[in-house]
Amino acid sequence: MQINTENNQAAIRDLEIATGETISDCYQCGKCTAGCPASMDPSPSLLIHLLKLGLFTKAVNSASIWDCMACLTCSERCPKNVSPAAIIEGLKRIHLNNMEPEINLNSLGQEFLAHSTQQAVVSGFRKFV
Ligand code: SF4
Ligand code: SF4
Repeated sequence: MQINTENNQAAIRDLEIATGETISDCYQCGKCTAGCPASMDPSPSLLIHLLKLGLFTKAVNSASIWDCMACLTCSERCPKNVSPAAIIEGLKRIHLNNMEPEINLNSLGQEFLAHSTQQAVVSGFRKFV
């Protein structure tokens, strides 16, 4: 799904549609962040707070979305039935689909790719590209 990242409010609506989440349901209790094992900064609740403020670009470019391990603890703990894990996964997908990659695949060289473990390359690209 291509998302209009130029317009913060439209992008947030598209993120809600893509994930099935209602961001405004979050009342910022912080239970998700309190249970998160990933020491994320911004934390899951702060990422949602940014989205509630309409700051989509800031949220989607936050380095901490790549620290999320998708353990679902936050989603289990939420008293409002919000899934921060789903929202963060949505932000990752949007980032990968819409943003300029930070690494040019062609610059890695055939020798590096030939001797790298396939899974390591795939995981690395999920995190850093
Ligand atoms: S636990 Fe749910 S309601 Fe509380 S801050 Fe996290 S997402 Fe918002
Ligand atoms: S899914 Fe991600 S944000 Fe949620 S508790 Fe696990 S590591 Fe933290």
